[in-house]
Amino acid sequence: MKEHVYLDYNATCPLRPGVREAILEVLDLPGNASSIHMHGREARKKVEHARKQIAELIGANQEKITFNSGATEGNNTIMHAYAPQGVLVSAIEHPCIINLEHSMALVDVTEDGVIDLDHFEEMISKSPPPLLASVMMVNNETGVIQPLKEIVEISHNRGIKVHTDATQAVGRMNIDLFLLNADYMTLSSHKIGGPQGIGALITTNDIEPPVLFHGGGQEKSRRAGTENIPGIVGFGAAAEHARKNLEKYATLKNEQAYLESELKKLNEDIIIYGENVDRVHNTTCFSIPGANAETMLIAFDLDGISLSSGSACSSGKVSHSHVLKAMGAGDEELKGALRLSYGWATTREHIDQFLNAAEKIIKRVRN
Ligand code: PMP
Repeated sequence: MKEHVYLDYNATCPLRPGVREAILEVLDLPGNASSIHMHGREARKKVEHARKQIAELIGANQEKITFNSGATEGNNTIMHAYAPQGVLVSAIEHPCIINLEHSMALVDVTEDGVIDLDHFEEMISKSPPPLLASVMMVNNETGVIQPLKEIVEISHNRGIKVHTDATQAVGRMNIDLFLLNADYMTLSSHKIGGPQGIGALITTNDIEPPVLFHGGGQEKSRRAGTENIPGIVGFGAAAEHARKNLEKYATLKNEQAYLESELKKLNEDIIIYGENVDRVHNTTCFSIPGANAETMLIAFDLDGISLSSGSACSSGKVSHSHVLKAMGAGDEELKGALRLSYGWATTREHIDQFLNAAEKIIKRVRN
């Protein structure tokens, strides 16, 4: 039987080698990392080892890594602290930033999905100035890499702090938080091949993270709640594997180029978002204007391919991608948008299996 191919890494990434084993080992450890007895100290050792593994992946100071439940919590922690006082965010941020009910100013993106730096400068110069700018490192729908170095420079020149949601960048490109000098960074374990429900908020220099959860003194009183040790250990193991296998993402460049050139041969109307700008090599977001993405998604699923549409369905209503809308996509384009995202375990055979299915499905759409 044909393998069902998974091409939805930006939704969640398969566990990397070694992660499962690392988690299983600590599931049998009864220690609470805050306890001072032997079992507690063992648990603490595991937590601190994971912190080091994550720090090494992103060039951070391990003392500045605070574990939490994932990027949604990290982003909420930042926005709850800063948004009431004024933040500047890009129009393509994840819903866990952009859908919060605070007053925030939105910065435009170009039609290629890159933040418009002229507009950013204009918005940040307004009075009163924002306290914080929040711009993601890589967009989850298009894979477009944002000009964070410039954002940090412009903001810091005005004394404004910068937060970056690096959820879709980590493990997919080289990151050096020390060089980047952003003030806050959010991460999520399951997007790099660790378990779900664990993430981190990271700060630089002498900055302390805002506190959202109060209670016990865990995580240096930065985030209360008994540490999720299996989650943290799995996150650490995934980070180490990601660091040692970063070149896999560089080689995905060839697969991305192959996939997109073959895809374009199937339909001359296909639009590939962010095609002409820097993208991570694991994401292909495309549209066939006028086609129905939901119908195609089901057809792909029946043909053994898991991928994602560029729209979100909640409470029975389908809403189109705010990211593609911000890039200027019209209704027909939005309706026909699909996202493929691949990663550390993707092979040429998987891509070919997708292309074989696409040949049939895209032909059907055209007729
Ligand atoms: N930010 C981005 C850019 C994401 O892609 C996601 C996950 N879709 C999140 C935040 C939320 O991450 P988590 O699942 O860890 O809460």
